[in-house]
Amino acid sequence: MTEPIRSIDLAAAWTAQRDELEAAVRRVLASGWYILGPEVRRFEEAFARFCGGGEAVGVGNGTDAITLALMALGVGEGDAVITVSHTAVASAVGILRAGAVPVFVDIDPERYTMGPTALADLLAGWARNPATAGLRPAAVMPVHLYGQPADMTAIGALAGQYGLVVIEDCAQAHGATLDGHVVGSFGEAATFSFYPTKNLGAFGDGGAVLVQDAARAEAIRGLRQYGWKARYVSDVVGMNSRLDELQAALLAVRLEAVPAETGRRREIAGIYHRALAGIDRDRLRCPQVADGVGHAWHQYVVASADRDALKNHLAGEGIETLIHYPVPIHLQPAHRTGTGSGAAGLAESERAARQVLSLPMHPWLTDGEVERVAAAVLGYYG
Ligand SMILES: *Cc1c(COP(=O)(O)O)cnc(C)c1O
Repeated sequence: MTEPIRSIDLAAAWTAQRDELEAAVRRVLASGWYILGPEVRRFEEAFARFCGGGEAVGVGNGTDAITLALMALGVGEGDAVITVSHTAVASAVGILRAGAVPVFVDIDPERYTMGPTALADLLAGWARNPATAGLRPAAVMPVHLYGQPADMTAIGALAGQYGLVVIEDCAQAHGATLDGHVVGSFGEAATFSFYPTKNLGAFGDGGAVLVQDAARAEAIRGLRQYGWKARYVSDVVGMNSRLDELQAALLAVRLEAVPAETGRRREIAGIYHRALAGIDRDRLRCPQVADGVGHAWHQYVVASADRDALKNHLAGEGIETLIHYPVPIHLQPAHRTGTGSGAAGLAESERAARQVLSLPMHPWLTDGEVERVAAAVLGYYG
């Protein structure tokens, strides 16, 4: 019996950098400083450099990062934040917790990210659409899903035309680039998650907001801790969403490995691409990389009308696959009301939910394992 291939191997991150990670743990435990201290500062600086500039603020998780970014941008009650339904449910939760309403727009079926044409239609029909008429279109939040940046040129142009602030959900795209710019620099704010499965993962929860100006960073530093301006003086209500010293120290070690790990993800995507290119696109669609994109390959996602049968076939070969995501947010029990879908509907988002399948993708897969996965996919279509 051959070894099973898992979709992700979290302990491998520990094994790969054990000495440095253990040293970081010992240093923090011995320091007597456990939350929002020098390790968080050091990681924030290193992470902002990795993102090509700006200021990073460490927070509790990627969902809170969205809420805090919107709060700092003055987006809340009565405001609509336009986003996609084909994403982690956290994208919508972060918006709702800021008091705003997510309004979903359909995706581009090739890129799986916000469709600029759908966005243009939604904005043009805003006042006539019963789902949006009472709301102020305040912000647009594209999600760089699977590691591929959304079309920020087209989205940014529409945001400019309609006076929307842009916030990027970068939870799946650490270090991805578009036209040579690292994601996180296209909008007024960008949010990141360091959930263990992400391309930069902690050994627990963590997140960050990246902003380009110092005043806004200071505002988020206050909001993440009881709205404190100075110790024990709350300017605003704020919340409690802090990054701890242990996670920050571990993340600083993990961050150093991310460029090489992203390189390995690209190699793995290349092996999949070459092996699967021969399958008719009517039967299996491999991911398309848009022009100008430096993909971070958080996931390698194929799409097929017989997705469930393919998934079962691969499971029978000992290969674990995942579905990101089986139910779009607008069809989730908790999110069916209060969220407008836009005149164009969400047909592509619903189709993606029926068809997408994430093949194993993490930097510690061997070439042999990737080839075995590809052979099993080919076997299904053979
Ligand atoms: C993981 C993720 C989040 C939420 O991050 P948490 O750290 O789990 O709160 C938000 N958006 C997207 C697209 C994600 O993948």
